[in-house]
Amino acid sequence: MLILLDRDGVLNQDRADYVKSPAEWVPIPGIGPAIAALNARGWKVVICTNQACIGKGIIDEAMLDRIHDAMRAHIAVDGARIDDILFAPDPPWAQTERRKPGPGMMREAMAKYRERPDNTVFIGDTDTDMLAASRAGCRRILVRSGKGAATLAKGLPPEAAPVAVFADLAEAVQRLLADGAEAAPL
Ligand SMILES: [Mg+2]
Repeated sequence: MLILLDRDGVLNQDRADYVKSPAEWVPIPGIGPAIAALNARGWKVVICTNQACIGKGIIDEAMLDRIHDAMRAHIAVDGARIDDILFAPDPPWAQTERRKPGPGMMREAMAKYRERPDNTVFIGDTDTDMLAASRAGCRRILVRSGKGAATLAKGLPPEAAPVAVFADLAEAVQRLLADGAEAAPL
C-alpha cells in the first residue's frame, strides 16, 4: 500500500499565514509513532503538499527544505521517516494539474512507487485534498485535525465521496493497520 499525506493540518498545525520557518512548523501530537508504524509495515509514505507560499514569493525552496529537515528530525526521534516529499509551488491564481485539487502529485507518486490507485490512501484535512485524491482514484481519509472539522461542518462536495473520517493521523494509521485498504472504502 502507498500512503499519501497532506502536510499542513495532518502532520503539523495549520496556519493561515503559511509555515514560513522551522519554528513555525508545530507538530500534531502522535505523528512520529504513527509514521514509524507505517514504515514498519513496509508501506511507502509520501507527502503531497500545496505550498503556494513559494509561488507567492513568501518563502523560497531552500527555506522549504529547512522546514522539512525540522519535520524529518522531529519524527526521527520515534524512528519514523518520510520516503518522499512532493510539493506544488503554484499560487492559487495559477492552478495547475499538480496543485490540489488537481490529481497531479498523487499520480506522480503512484507512478514513481508503482502502486495502483485502489491500493493508495490519501490522508488530508480539506475538500481540495479529497477532490484531488478522488480525481486520482485513490482511497480517501479526512482527519478532523487542522481544517478537518471545519471541512466537515461545511460539507464535502459529492465528487469527494466516499470519505472515511478519523480524529487525526494517529487514529487513521491505527485503522489502516487493523483493516488495511478497507479502512477507506472506494
Ligand atoms: Mg492541509
